Amino acid sequence: MYECPNCGGNLKFDIPSQQLKCAYCLTTHDPYDITKSQDAEESSDFNVTIFTCPQCGGEILSADTSAAEFCSFCGASTILDSRISKEKRPSHIIPFKQTKEACKQAYIARMKHALFAPDELKDKKYIDGFRGIYMPYWAYSITQQGTVSLKGKKSYRRGDYVYTDHYNLDGEIDACYYDLSYDASSSFSDDISQRIAPFYVKDSKKFTPSYLSGFYADTADVDSRLYEKDAVKLANTTSYNKIKRTPEFSDLAISGEGNDFSMTMSLHTYSETPERVLYPVWFMSYRKNGRVAYATVNGQNCKVAADIPVDVKKYTLGTVLLTIPIFVLLNLFLTIRPGTLLSCSCLLASLSLAVYAFEILGIYHKDRRTHDRGYLSRASGSSSAPDTKKDSVSLQELIKFHSSAGHGKAPGFIFSLAAILACICVWIINPVSDLWYYGGAVVSFVGILLTIVAIIQKYNVLATQKLPQFERHGGDDGAY
Ligand SMILES: [Zn+2]
Ligand SMILES: [Zn+2]
Repeated sequence: MYECPNCGGNLKFDIPSQQLKCAYCLTTHDPYDITKSQDAEESSDFNVTIFTCPQCGGEILSADTSAAEFCSFCGASTILDSRISKEKRPSHIIPFKQTKEACKQAYIARMKHALFAPDELKDKKYIDGFRGIYMPYWAYSITQQGTVSLKGKKSYRRGDYVYTDHYNLDGEIDACYYDLSYDASSSFSDDISQRIAPFYVKDSKKFTPSYLSGFYADTADVDSRLYEKDAVKLANTTSYNKIKRTPEFSDLAISGEGNDFSMTMSLHTYSETPERVLYPVWFMSYRKNGRVAYATVNGQNCKVAADIPVDVKKYTLGTVLLTIPIFVLLNLFLTIRPGTLLSCSCLLASLSLAVYAFEILGIYHKDRRTHDRGYLSRASGSSSAPDTKKDSVSLQELIKFHSSAGHGKAPGFIFSLAAILACICVWIINPVSDLWYYGGAVVSFVGILLTIVAIIQKYNVLATQKLPQFERHGGDDGAY
């Protein structure tokens, strides 16, 4: 803890004043004036308490030693194990700008639109569980300086001939891209970090450990080289587009465009050593039925990103209420022939089948975090950028996943499948009596309804996260 020079009380970072504030004598102090002896400026490390969740292995660090009572990653209420450790000193930090109260208001405003969300998500006690966590990012700075010579060409047709004019484009480039930042924590999903982006680096301050007082931080455990290519590519493309926007060049095809290596060579793109930075996030987790939902609020501008599951009871009630007026309305002027009715129900059954299949595919990718490069690189133990474009999954693999992950007890699509079969049977028999058609339609509508319930259940799985299970490697985290 950081002691008040005035009375010895506990100093915490106070968001409205952006200073450290004493809870007892209410004096405020400049964060740079308050240091512990171990926090020495010249050291590349600083002392922290690391809290480990006994259930999921998730780790969170703090400048205080007071016990943490719940885990933000898996939502468990439990006393976390603690140990003293050293952490690499970040170069910059964006201190929290938005108070917990402001964050709660932003979250409540967001949840007003979520009509079918479970009541617990709107419960005051739950909302009070927001915790201020500094999330680690890698910030890349890219420079492009020097003489640029590019080749451009323009083709046009005149009569039977195609003419191509070649141009040499010469010039000087002097471009800097500062703080292109990428999520450096493998436990914080890239998806969430993208949803609450951007952070504005104008509020960025030189890091000093006392800024963390009263807050938590996540550890940076993703290799710093992981996102370097992305940052370089972003700089290259931006500069190329800028060159192309020069009116005289607008109709030219410029050499090397789209080829990252050739753009890097011609623009003299240079990536400086990435810096560790910390960005503020209000974080809350909600655990139910073996899944966890996260709500995150950007601590700088209150942008909200929340996993919002649907309460099946509420949803059913809502749809029934909506169906009655539609039914009455359609009844007034619409008459459907039995054959058409059967075709309609068959079409709807196929549609629900497709939706269900897509949900399973979505859950497959989400649970394996196939798009989360920070996580994948950490899990595979390699520092290179893993391939995330592995979008194709074989049907076999998907079916195996469906039955292994407990989704397979009564596969939801079976009802729709039965509905389609029922329709086909009626068509084949082609009975004289209309009653058969009505019967077939009723059977298939029941099938569709059951599939829809399964779809909602799967939607809830998709809207939430798998309970995390971290494999930490002791004290060597962030040793890159
Ligand atoms: Zn004091
Ligand atoms: Zn946990």
